Amino acid sequence: MTAVNFDISKFLDRLFPLERSIMGESNRKTLSIIREIIPIEILEYPSGMSVFDWNIPDEWKVYQAWIKDSNGNILLNGKDNSLRIVNYSIPVNCTLTALELAPHLHSIPDAPDTIPYKTSYYSPDWGFCLTHIEKESILYDPGKTFSVCIQSEFKKGSLSIGELVIPGKHDSEILISTYICHPSLANDNLSGIALTTFLAKWLLGKSRNFTYRIIFAPETIGTITYLFTHFNEIKRVLCGLNVTCVAGPGPFGYKQTFQKDHTIDRAVRLYFRDSGTSFVEYPFIPQGSDERQYSSPGFRIPVGSIHKDKYHEYPQYHTSKDDLSFISPQSLEKTLKIYQNVIEIIESNAVITSLQPFGEPQLGRRGLYPNVGRRTISNKLHKDDFEKELDTLLWVLFYADGTMHTIDIAEITGIPFERCAAAIDKLVQAGLLKKELYIPDAPVIMF
Ligand code: ZN
Repeated sequence: MTAVNFDISKFLDRLFPLERSIMGESNRKTLSIIREIIPIEILEYPSGMSVFDWNIPDEWKVYQAWIKDSNGNILLNGKDNSLRIVNYSIPVNCTLTALELAPHLHSIPDAPDTIPYKTSYYSPDWGFCLTHIEKESILYDPGKTFSVCIQSEFKKGSLSIGELVIPGKHDSEILISTYICHPSLANDNLSGIALTTFLAKWLLGKSRNFTYRIIFAPETIGTITYLFTHFNEIKRVLCGLNVTCVAGPGPFGYKQTFQKDHTIDRAVRLYFRDSGTSFVEYPFIPQGSDERQYSSPGFRIPVGSIHKDKYHEYPQYHTSKDDLSFISPQSLEKTLKIYQNVIEIIESNAVITSLQPFGEPQLGRRGLYPNVGRRTISNKLHKDDFEKELDTLLWVLFYADGTMHTIDIAEITGIPFERCAAAIDKLVQAGLLKKELYIPDAPVIMF
């Protein structure tokens, strides 16, 4: 196990048990653990604050919860698993028949030993989540009555968001966002919190061309709050990645941005193509995660997501089976590498202009071409390294008209991005090319 793996695995172990929700102490604890690794600022926004069409709710806390039979025997202890109580359940203390209790017991008949994860943040409700086996054993006798208690409390508090802005040479920004509102669920989305933390640590390791805005916020309400309170700053963001479900045992996936072919979409596809890694591509739909907020009409930021076991695509999703045994630090590290590589592609993607555009420049006297004989671009399938490099140099020179960037050339020619980038650097060194960082267009918004 590598050093990074060890750090990631320790991080996952510490954060998994915390009972995160959209607000509360566990979210602040989560952010403070992240702050041990990267210097995030922790921003707090009060309950009751209006943010666009929403209001920041109160914090929610559960002191105890149970279902007892008429003899006082505990049939279900609501505190023995973080998923037991429907998140944001209102207080309840009453006696119910089996028929009255049944609609408040949530289970998955098809996965009878699994506890589902349920929330009711914005409509007052209450409920217990339990395995189907437990549900059947509680409700087996329709004539029974139960005493039910959820001692929960709602109180004014604050919504917590972690933010880190890593300045680059350019003000133009790339957004990396993840959500911190799920309790003890591993792939969705403790894995996203961990990947974002270690990606930010890596970004801090050297100077960057773009500025990076890293956000840890509760899903939906947190992102909306962040956008509301950073209305001007967010206009510098060109595109982004929303990090969720990144450490499962299954396939890599990519959910496209709403633009489908934005630079960030193309960078992701190139990485998968060049590395020969198979992945499932998912079209943008206005359901899913926080890309819905960032890409809404008032912001229109293209945001994609690279996954390993995308949400809704694995049976353990939103259940007690999405635990630490489902994910692995090794899987997480593989996905982290992909995020890093995609960022490197965007960081080194350059518009190139020939400084010798009239006719073919003489490569031989610059040590870039064999000076004996004449070679042409061959169509042979198996080229040696020299031929491959020569091909790349010639293609790069051919497209160096000031309108094309590295990603364009890698896509058109099929030559790996990294090889194109290396050829560009060689030609820049030889004084044959000028290169400038390609800055994608800023989002076009109507408001
Ligand atoms: Zn989720």
